[in-house]
Amino acid sequence: MLRAAASAAAAGALTSGCDPDRGTGASSSAPGSSAGPSPSGAGRSAPARVPAARPPTRAQGQPVEIEHGPRDGRAVALTFHGRGDPKLANALLGEAERAGAKVTVLVVGDWLDEQPAMARRILDGGHELGNHTMHHRAICALPEAAAYAEISQCADRLHKLTGTIGSWFRPSQTRRATPQVIRLARKVGYPHVLSYDLDSLDANDPGAPAVRRTVLDGVQPGSVVSLHLGHAGTVAALPPILDGLRQRGLRAVTTTELVT
Ligand SMILES: [Zn+2]
Repeated sequence: MLRAAASAAAAGALTSGCDPDRGTGASSSAPGSSAGPSPSGAGRSAPARVPAARPPTRAQGQPVEIEHGPRDGRAVALTFHGRGDPKLANALLGEAERAGAKVTVLVVGDWLDEQPAMARRILDGGHELGNHTMHHRAICALPEAAAYAEISQCADRLHKLTGTIGSWFRPSQTRRATPQVIRLARKVGYPHVLSYDLDSLDANDPGAPAVRRTVLDGVQPGSVVSLHLGHAGTVAALPPILDGLRQRGLRAVTTTELVT
């Protein structure tokens, strides 16, 4: 019913990195070890314990393009490109939940078409959902109509699955948005676009120790960290990253909690 044309495009042919200058996305499919709470959501009317999807966040005092939260607080936001092997995504969410951490997942629309249960799975864990375009194209290079479609089509998928268009929009294959992309995101309904101040470089699959080092060496209070679902090294790096944050007195919270 709510399944639009599933993009049957060659799986794996698309880049997985969020930045333009990297991302021959060799999406690893190593042992998906542990899984978190099983993806629920089957049947019945929505149980009360499932948190509602939040609408787009308006963060007072924050610029239109948000790179980080308050530097005088004790919180950071771990933000994930949402695409890839659902086993790895579940394993990652499970690791976050075991440590009491919340994350933000910016989903790619064609991934949601293939894995519609992941939207509810992410919300069930108390995490936050956002829009990371329909196909993860180089959105800043697209003509206006195509760029608008990339944003609005993913927003439609989120709305059908969760009741809102998601809390955040992050452009694809770029760290910073162009004025056109910012304007189009606002037209679709997102007051802000979500950038980041720390790139974990995890999409290059450098190994879990390198991902951990990059994050813990670079993180500051208020950081918004860019990470990726679908990479085994990121799943393995998450527990030591969360340990390291704790040792620095930092908590991993949703992006909305970070900036509001
Ligand atoms: Zn991305």
